[in-house]
Amino acid sequence: MLNIVIFGPPGAGKGTQSKLIIDRYNLTHLSTGDILRAEMANKTPLGIEAKNLIEKGELVPDDIVIGMVRNKIDSEAGSEGFIFDGFPRTIEQAEALDDILGERNTPISAMISLEVEEQELIDRLLKRAELEGRKDDNIEVIQNRIKVYNEVTSSVAGYYAKTGRHRSVDGTGTIEEIFGRISSIIDEVKKSS
Ligand code: AMP
Repeated sequence: MLNIVIFGPPGAGKGTQSKLIIDRYNLTHLSTGDILRAEMANKTPLGIEAKNLIEKGELVPDDIVIGMVRNKIDSEAGSEGFIFDGFPRTIEQAEALDDILGERNTPISAMISLEVEEQELIDRLLKRAELEGRKDDNIEVIQNRIKVYNEVTSSVAGYYAKTGRHRSVDGTGTIEEIFGRISSIIDEVKKSS
């Protein structure tokens, strides 16, 4: 199995690149943001609980997202591997993911971190607001999401760096250029695993 974390601030292009990665490498896309949006759309108890936090740009509690990820991994037992998108966002989530995958003997091979400067993130997210109409893509919430990323989530990169699994990628340029950088890392990781 090949398990990859795609990491970066909101607007870095994680979702866009995930779609290209799953097509080329036949992986299962696990986006906690997508799962939460589906729960909200279906008005499940979890969705109702998460809605308020998501619309403010705050993180949903660790135990909720960790439970969701565990269920998704279990329900995709035949998968050739996962691309984790938007998870982990805290050190606790990163540790839980290592535990869950450790129990299944399929560790994270690499974390690919997309680097994009802040003004470009804001410009991209405002553009996405026009195209997709996501409720958390307005300027106040965008600024809060970037703040939460800087204050809480960015430390997750250090967690993977400590175990030699962190790979930094320039997240600017065309979608194809960025994908070229990502796929050369994945090819390298596959060869050495
Ligand atoms: P995303 O689509 O990944 O940008 O996620 C949208 C929102 O869902 C985030 O701003 C958080 O409110 C929530 N969310 C998604 N993934 C996580 C996570 N791993 N931990 C906590 N909250 C999350």
